[in-house]
Amino acid sequence: MSINRDWLEKDYYALLGVAKNASQKEIRKAYRALAQKNHPDANPGDTSAEDRFKEISAAYDVLGDEKKRKEYDRVREMAGAGFGFGFGGPGGARVRFEDLGFEESFGDLFNLFGGGFGGPAGSRARRRTVRRKGADLETAVRVTFEEAATGATVPVRVAGASLCETCGGSGATPGTAVRTCPECSGTGAVAVDQGLFSLNRTCGVCGGSGRLIESPCQTCGGSGRTRSSRPLKVKVPPGVEDGARIRVSGRGEPGPSGGEPGDLYVVVHVAPHSFFGRKGANLTLSLPLTFPEAALGADVKVPTLNGSVTLRIPPGTDAGKTFRLRGHGASKPSGGRGDLLVTVTVEVPKRLSKRERELLEQFREAHPESPRARLGNDN
Ligand code: ZN
Ligand code: ZN
Repeated sequence: MSINRDWLEKDYYALLGVAKNASQKEIRKAYRALAQKNHPDANPGDTSAEDRFKEISAAYDVLGDEKKRKEYDRVREMAGAGFGFGFGGPGGARVRFEDLGFEESFGDLFNLFGGGFGGPAGSRARRRTVRRKGADLETAVRVTFEEAATGATVPVRVAGASLCETCGGSGATPGTAVRTCPECSGTGAVAVDQGLFSLNRTCGVCGGSGRLIESPCQTCGGSGRTRSSRPLKVKVPPGVEDGARIRVSGRGEPGPSGGEPGDLYVVVHVAPHSFFGRKGANLTLSLPLTFPEAALGADVKVPTLNGSVTLRIPPGTDAGKTFRLRGHGASKPSGGRGDLLVTVTVEVPKRLSKRERELLEQFREAHPESPRARLGNDN
């Protein structure tokens, strides 16, 4: 996330002519209309249109990205609250944002004002020369019910910046030298005496990277990064639930100037099964029995994720009774497996032959007691 003074000076909402709470759809619409109107192709030779086009694009680049937009709102809120831009210290020292190094997160500005200002005159604002971490990426993957239950390694495609394959991320044409910046000795920052403060300013010679590239790589233009969609294999842990977000450490975008890479988040969508259900690590199954099976008892075959097993139904089993098949559920992330919960239903025959009807009528005569007798005398 880079903060630059444009964020403080330019009202991107006003530039696009949208309200501060505008939706992404409204922002996109406003941007498209303005971009079309001011596009250099539509206004040949008109430099003011070209400038407007650039400004509109810069505004959309921030507001069109919810993450950047939040950061922008926050920065402006803070600036509005009196922190920051054009901060005038007692000695007339002005701390300007650009002096702080664009790569600083806004939290560090607070540290700077809190720690640097108010200390003894000439105290150094401590600025960590931590390299920026690469951006996190997110992707989604769809797995089958079985894969979610037992765990699987699935292929995903990740779109985003990745290390340039030509130069391996160095930004230099292979075989040419990358020198340590002599101005900042590779730290990317130089101390600037501001009177009251001594501040670190982003090194102007190397742009903060600490390195000087003699011959920039042709593929990536010296940035060391290229945009691509790369395939990756992701381990989905056993027992994963629908909607789970898996963090794959270090598989996000590479950090600028050799910083640590960001992380990749994989959102898992689990496809439903045609007859199994999931309750945590337990699987559920509705098992239909015939009336004779429920009444007389039977050994019935029950499907599981690993082939079928035989379940003994005792005589006189009521519909709704649940049997627990231990260890036939989904894998637990902690190890072991859940159970398969088999709930019985009794299927009533819909079309009866003459003989079936006679047999059932005989059964009714032999079994005149009403199961509703316990509900009261009249039933
Ligand atoms: Zn390259
Ligand atoms: Zn430098």
